Amino acid sequence: MSDLIAAIATPPGRGGVGILRLSGPGAAETAGQVFHPAGKTALADAPDRQLLYGQMVDNSGRVLDSGLAFVSRAPRSYTGEETAELQCHGSPMVLSLLLEAVTARGARLAGPGEFTRRAFLNGKLDLTRAEGVIDLIDAETPAAARQAANQLSGALFRRAEAIYSALVDLSAHFHAVLDYPDEDLDPFRAETMAQVLRDQAAALEKLSATQRRGLAVKNGVLCAIVGRPNAGKSSLLNALAGYQRAIVTDIPGTTRDTVEVKVELAGVPFRLVDTAGVRESDDPIEQMGVERSRQAMEEASLILVVWDGSQPVTGEDRAILAQAADGRPVVLVWNKSDLEGGPLPAGALPENVTPVEVSAVTGQGLDELERTLARLAGLSDDGRPDEVLTNARQAEAVGRAREAVTAALDGLEAGTPPDLLLLDVEEAISALGELTGRTVREDITARIFERFCVGK
Ligand code: GDP
Repeated sequence: MSDLIAAIATPPGRGGVGILRLSGPGAAETAGQVFHPAGKTALADAPDRQLLYGQMVDNSGRVLDSGLAFVSRAPRSYTGEETAELQCHGSPMVLSLLLEAVTARGARLAGPGEFTRRAFLNGKLDLTRAEGVIDLIDAETPAAARQAANQLSGALFRRAEAIYSALVDLSAHFHAVLDYPDEDLDPFRAETMAQVLRDQAAALEKLSATQRRGLAVKNGVLCAIVGRPNAGKSSLLNALAGYQRAIVTDIPGTTRDTVEVKVELAGVPFRLVDTAGVRESDDPIEQMGVERSRQAMEEASLILVVWDGSQPVTGEDRAILAQAADGRPVVLVWNKSDLEGGPLPAGALPENVTPVEVSAVTGQGLDELERTLARLAGLSDDGRPDEVLTNARQAEAVGRAREAVTAALDGLEAGTPPDLLLLDVEEAISALGELTGRTVREDITARIFERFCVGK
């Protein structure tokens, strides 16, 4: 496993800087063979993480580029192994020749996520932090990046470890009781144990409840924009996104497919989906768009219904609103407020419909719309915990731990024998072990690291 691996760590294409990374036995020496320092110190002899300036050479020793290099020895490196990094100009040709030069000297091309996988196997990162690395690389909004950084810094890991450790202590107590099978659990001891279980059940419950926020922040709160053709859906999406993402024209039916953008509005990440409208059509392409619109509307947590405020409200407008207002929060956007037109017609709106008057063209009312959307997303009332669950794997493990702790608690209160209670406690410990990767499940870890890019 711990052979020498190498990969280009910077993204494909040209850029200011390009980085080649090596990890494994001989990393410093191999990197030193393709890097000739300007000073007297050879790369292999340099102190940890001290940058050296010098020249990079290709397979046959010809100068390729000049740049910086450093080594970082085990165990104080990202992977926990001996590592070296060469920083040259961001030229795909220079980088591929450098990679060729180190592979010719025995390094092997790294697979996706292999550096981080080694970090995990060497105990430098637990699985939740490794997942934080992927989420951080994939983050598309500031909130998603902050959340991933928090996970990477170990917020979820520490919470999981605290529960894990309380349960390990408890299982030790059960073992002690089991060593004296003739004695019953005395009531005082049973109550102390019950309290530990109650506390851990509550902590796990709280953790489970963070999944909605975690996913919403990571992926964005899905918000479908619906309305009659020409009401201004695409214009509104563009105005909220701050750039021209959807094609805006005054020919009805231009948005044939769904258009999606991720934006952060008033601090809340959203996935805004501009739909093709929900009207019937004979055009097969338009029909596909209509189908996707229906799907987006079904899955959305929030719906923006756009009415053209410069025109009389039509039966179709009302039908779309009625279809959207099926219990989810709906914002009724009375658009084109810059044009001649009356105020939103008086009339009782369903309780879950919040009207906002805007102009997608002048931007008037957009601030209020953003605040309304952020409020309706409903993410601000859960105390913004630092530790949040951000994927189904984590949620499943926490759910399993929670069920097992609850079963142990119920059993303890019902007078179940300690050996059976112990099984439940151990099940909870093993579920938490999977969450952080203490209990390594090869199939699961392999799947996690496959999602990484090469060079990370
Ligand atoms: P969609 O079919 O609902 O996506 O509507 P579009 O966004 O393509 O807009 C249809 C037309 O209405 C375009 O000509 C837009 O420029 C215009 N429009 C959209 N919003 C406004 C607005 O707030 N004020 C004015 N004056 N025109 C708007």
